Amino acid sequence: MKNPKEGGACWRCRRFVAEEDNFCRFCGSHLTHFPWYYQHWGILVLTFFALGPFSLALAWRSPVISKASKWAYTALAALMTYELVMGCIRVYQLLNNAAAGLLQGQLPAGL
Ligand SMILES: [Zn+2]
Repeated sequence: MKNPKEGGACWRCRRFVAEEDNFCRFCGSHLTHFPWYYQHWGILVLTFFALGPFSLALAWRSPVISKASKWAYTALAALMTYELVMGCIRVYQLLNNAAAGLLQGQLPAGL
């Protein structure tokens, strides 16, 4: 975990913080403990159960997650979104073909 004090700036408001500060003097953010939704497990839980690819906004704001991990999350979200869209297109085509067959009096394949 990277300490936000190393850069000398608050992770939230980007203003200067002294090394002995535990809270930002400007925005009041804790400088050593971060909300659960900025942790790796929080990002994953929110991605799979609530926000989907929109959780990337939290991942990129997180002071805990490294730059490489942020790019990994972004690539994973892009891949999963692509697969989801392609899956929806395949289901649409399958249903469309089945409906066209039904209109011509044929049973869909597999029935
Ligand atoms: Zn601050």
